[in-house]
Amino acid sequence: MKLLFSRSIAAFAALLMAVPAQADALIDNINGITLDEHGDVVHFTGLLMTTDGRVTRLLGRKDKRPEKLDWRTDMRGKVMLPGFVDAHGHIMDLGFRSMELDLSDTHSLAEAQAKIAAYAEANPERTWILGGGWDQEKWGLGRFPTAAELDAVAGDRPIALTRIDSHAVWVNSAALKAAGITPATKAPPGGRIENGILTDAARLMIMQAVPQPLARERDLAFIQAQQMLLSKGITATADMRTTLDDWLVFRRIADKNLLRIRIISYADSIQTANRAAGGSPSPWLYDDKLKLGGVKLFADGALGSRGACLKAPYADAPKQSGQCLLTDAQLKNLMSRAAMDGFQVAVHAIGDKANAEALDAIEAVSDAYKGDRRWRIEHAQIVDPADLPRFARGSIIASMQPIHALSDRTMAEARLGPGRLAGAYAWHSMLGNKVPLAFGSDYPNDDFNPFHGWVAGFTRADGTGQPFGGWQPQERITREEAWRAYTMGGAYAAFAEDRIGRLAPGLWADFIIVDADPLLATAGDLWNMQVEQTWVGGKMMWERK
Ligand SMILES: [Zn+2]
Repeated sequence: MKLLFSRSIAAFAALLMAVPAQADALIDNINGITLDEHGDVVHFTGLLMTTDGRVTRLLGRKDKRPEKLDWRTDMRGKVMLPGFVDAHGHIMDLGFRSMELDLSDTHSLAEAQAKIAAYAEANPERTWILGGGWDQEKWGLGRFPTAAELDAVAGDRPIALTRIDSHAVWVNSAALKAAGITPATKAPPGGRIENGILTDAARLMIMQAVPQPLARERDLAFIQAQQMLLSKGITATADMRTTLDDWLVFRRIADKNLLRIRIISYADSIQTANRAAGGSPSPWLYDDKLKLGGVKLFADGALGSRGACLKAPYADAPKQSGQCLLTDAQLKNLMSRAAMDGFQVAVHAIGDKANAEALDAIEAVSDAYKGDRRWRIEHAQIVDPADLPRFARGSIIASMQPIHALSDRTMAEARLGPGRLAGAYAWHSMLGNKVPLAFGSDYPNDDFNPFHGWVAGFTRADGTGQPFGGWQPQERITREEAWRAYTMGGAYAAFAEDRIGRLAPGLWADFIIVDADPLLATAGDLWNMQVEQTWVGGKMMWERK
């Protein structure tokens, strides 16, 4: 692991292009496309910047190039776009998940066993083997796998593998032993322990026994995630639910001069925000690459597991309507405490009732906390159409994930029934109500390729045009509107529109080089668009090999 780590850092450092300090640099002969402050498309052929990475001018074809330049490069007509801003992601989860064993592509128990054995052999330094994605139904097994079937392939170290739906974990005897679970152990209420399978509430018994990752493992996970995001053209991201450990990783990486992406952190609690940043948001640190700006709160759970808090019962579970996690008073108190210290508040709300409660709370506290607060509702997935105008009235940002409309649609129809989809994944209605929209992906829980989200935004379909005509197509927005939400929208949502989100004088030269014009491409071609280079602050941070 140590070797791997230093090698990946060396390779990574070599990527950075040396640009002499100060004065002007010109990137010329580009097919540059950006949006202006009104969201209108602007074309340019040259980008002039300071050598420390801020845009000074966009040049048209006929504009004279300065004669005295410290540095210039010719892009040979390639397409340049502003970098994407993912308004909602989880950096460390992305990194750790990429390092874990993924069984989602296995079709039989035997295939999974072979993959587990190979992973164990390739990763001798891992004290626990962690991963997931298995599905015994896809394997055609007709039963759950057992501890003995794991012992047989890699029995020496503890193994814990989460089922595809996250509701069960499959472990071996070494993991049971490490967690102190014997045949006499009783499962907690709401859970089951059976032959190496622990479901729901019982899963925690295993998860608590997994050792916390070491600092160098966390750093490695971060570097992996950063590379993955840069490779898809994401130059800035909100990190939702930053823990104190996560914050220390970001700082450690930045102190080593390895932070290449911009991060706006929303702490997982007011305590974390205060411990990490002090009694108010941190300043922009490391040349505007890192800031702890806010706090993330949770009003409910997820729709798939029926944890989303709904005004009426689930269509496919008439006795359930989900669970709002905080009372009105609790939500208001937490918001006040965060707002009092100047932290921005981002509330996770999926169900229509959770959204209404978040809106109630914002309306109640915004009398006391005036000014430009930019209250955010994360996901805003199922909103009662009657509540939509309330977003605009409170200048509340709807932080939404267009890709969810594709990955959730069948499930959402089952959970809600056809009658309640009017305010679901309703970004057209949001814009129609003049609600500021910020797009993201909620990685690693969904596909973070921003081109996929972009296409989903204006087609309500995937790159192959499925479902035909788009799902709930009345909620499509235009190609430019979707692009804006994925760039300027995310910047605005993070109080960063004076720094990032488009290419304009005074803003950072955060851009990507791609292989085609995204405004002329078919939806299918846009879906498959490849990023060739990713630049942050005027430096090339990633390049396709
Ligand atoms: Zn999330």
